[in-house]
Amino acid sequence: MPTEKQSETVPDVLTPDQRHRNMAAIHSASTKPELKLRRALWRLGFRYRVNDKKLPGKPDIVLPKYRTVIFIHGCLWHGHQGCRYYTVPKTNTDFWKAKIIRNQERDQEVWRRLEAKGWAVIIIWECQLKKESYKESVERVSSEIKRNGEAYQSSMAQRRKIQEEYRLLQREQRMRLVTLKAKGI
Ligand SMILES: [Zn+2]
Repeated sequence: MPTEKQSETVPDVLTPDQRHRNMAAIHSASTKPELKLRRALWRLGFRYRVNDKKLPGKPDIVLPKYRTVIFIHGCLWHGHQGCRYYTVPKTNTDFWKAKIIRNQERDQEVWRRLEAKGWAVIIIWECQLKKESYKESVERVSSEIKRNGEAYQSSMAQRRKIQEEYRLLQREQRMRLVTLKAKGI
């Protein structure tokens, strides 16, 4: 499993093949910041699924009750603008830039697809889970999840109300028809 350090500072001495393997490992394994956030959410009482393959982009954390998914993004791989961990290596710059842009495009496509399915998407950058900003980030994520959950519950309540009104309307219409028939009209 890659260490936190590896995913931030990319040694520029790797061959493209080594680099590829490194990146594949980073993408597939649960990263340390991800585990940290998961544990924090669990302690706060949130229950979730991880790496749900059925959802677009295989979100890192899925909270069905709150209709929310969370992605923990590496600052370099996903191009965290203005972040000190987002520095494109000086050699093979074009390769890196193209790779990062492709990731960003894919990310946006994934968010759109999830949002179209009614999921709220939270992005958290690895740098935001570092010691100095960890507590604040967990609080932010936690309140965002709760807000999303409330919005989801109220939209579900609204939908149930509309369905109920529709059922009542249908019943009234049926009864009216029955009455008309009984009267021979
Ligand atoms: Zn960052």
